[in-house]
Amino acid sequence: MKKKITIIGAGPGGLAAAMLLLSKGYAVNIYEKECSVGGRTGRFLLGDYIFDIGSTFLMLPQYIERIFRLAGKNIHDYVEITPLDPLYRLKFEDGTEFYPSMDLEKTISEIKRVFPDQVENYLRFQHDEQYRFNRIERCFKIPYNNLYDFLRPSFIEALPQMNISGSLRGRLEKYFTNENMRLAMSFQTKYLGMSPWQAPSVYSLISFIEYKWGIHHVTGGLNQLTLAMSEVVKEYGGRIYTSTRVNKILTKGKKAYGIVLDDGTTVDSDYVIINADFAYAMSNFLKTKKKFTDSNLKKRAYSCSTFMLYLGVNKQYEIPHHNLIFGEDFKDYMDNITMEKRPSASSLLYIHNPAATDSTLAPHGKSPIYILVPVPNNKSSINWDEIKHNFRRQVLDFIIAKTELKDIERHIEQEKIVTPLDWQSDFNVYNGAVFNLSHDLNQMFYFRPHNRSEELSNCYITGGGTHPGSGLPNICISSLITSELLIRDDIGDHRWRFE
Ligand SMILES: Cc1cc2nc3c(=O)[nH]c(=O)nc-3n(C[C@H](O)[C@H](O)[C@H](O)COP(=O)(O)OP(=O)(O)OC[C@H]3O[C@@H](n4cnc5c(N)ncnc54)[C@H](O)[C@@H]3O)c2cc1C
Repeated sequence: MKKKITIIGAGPGGLAAAMLLLSKGYAVNIYEKECSVGGRTGRFLLGDYIFDIGSTFLMLPQYIERIFRLAGKNIHDYVEITPLDPLYRLKFEDGTEFYPSMDLEKTISEIKRVFPDQVENYLRFQHDEQYRFNRIERCFKIPYNNLYDFLRPSFIEALPQMNISGSLRGRLEKYFTNENMRLAMSFQTKYLGMSPWQAPSVYSLISFIEYKWGIHHVTGGLNQLTLAMSEVVKEYGGRIYTSTRVNKILTKGKKAYGIVLDDGTTVDSDYVIINADFAYAMSNFLKTKKKFTDSNLKKRAYSCSTFMLYLGVNKQYEIPHHNLIFGEDFKDYMDNITMEKRPSASSLLYIHNPAATDSTLAPHGKSPIYILVPVPNNKSSINWDEIKHNFRRQVLDFIIAKTELKDIERHIEQEKIVTPLDWQSDFNVYNGAVFNLSHDLNQMFYFRPHNRSEELSNCYITGGGTHPGSGLPNICISSLITSELLIRDDIGDHRWRFE
């Protein structure tokens, strides 16, 4: 008889693990509290407009392609993935605009145009990052269940490249003398909800990865990836119970034996996988915990949150697909966001304008504009219900002052605001920290919650809350590690691998 696996949450982490495990013959049931799949990589509709909730940048598409391949499928039978050229527009405070590309020649001529004295520095940087990437990437792809995992030859070889005491900004200062160029290569820590001044030096690899492998769009939005995953789950006979909230994991000693749903129904299973936000899950699903107690969770460091403004506008703007607009106090702000907890609508703002390349998301001549502002998480105790309309006003003022969207207010047909409080209450994200536990080195690898639960021996974790961390490429790795560990534990062969 097939072993039964219960997965809590149909985010990309839960769906990817389900695909892998179903393809190996397990019976998998997913329980999702929302009425549709995808989690923070899902979608919602406002009138005629379709919005991605969260993820809009697909990096390293080869990772998600691999998940499909390992599950016996071809992702290109389900979705259309297109590289974006340019990657994005960066608009700095002084008005300078920069349009990098995954095409090296184009990027070099763009650097010559905007930062003429930085070309050699850039080539040196990319060369050195390639060397680091070749050593560090494999360290992200293995589990860290005990401290001895740090003694693996691959980790020891990569260690000097990690420059563990250095910050990302410190590393960039060794290569680039122009401040805007440094910003161009470091703002990517926004994807992890961290400041470039505080993020470990290892994250210089993000800009290297973007410039080398590009940023990709999926026709219909990145939500199509999770919809495609859910199709695969169903094709394999997996069941996804939407609008079904899980309340509790049933345990006996150090083992999980099922879950309890909101309506009191109990579901027995041989294994449980948690995809719901890790810290939320620990504080809600388990009564007794040894390691991740409520006070332990409170003490940990979390990523920033985001203020979201989704606008359905009856106009199309001649701006690129991705736009990052820098304000005057970016450094101060990035420090404050994680330390002093002050929100700012004029430091860094991201505008997603998918209508630039994708006509499927709104009727002709209209566009779904998504605006993201990194803001402090709910540890700050900001009363967003009180300030959100004021903050929206400030965001619009900033956009009107700094971009081509001067008349946007006249064209708004639909609107939705999501604040850190909404992330916490509606999306079950602990502290509203949408990029999970922060990615400081003391919360990475062995020090991040393990892929096999440290509380229960037959319970596993997948998604941004476990190793290796937030972001779709990392989440693909987490689902692979988690599924592999489960199968190894189940069949008793500790060398078993997905090939
Ligand atoms: C605004 C924003 C922008 C982002 N942009 C990008 C990007 O451009 N590129 C990128 O790679 N990454 C991006 N990310 C980060 C990350 O890749 C996504 O957030 C990703 O969806 C996280 O996946 P996950 O599987 O860990 O969790 P989630 O997507 O959050 O899925 C968890 C699921 O669990 C469900 N759940 C929670 N509680 C329960 C319960 N009690 N019972 C049943 N189900 C429950 C939730 O409803 C959800 O569906 C972004 C995140 C945000 C918030």
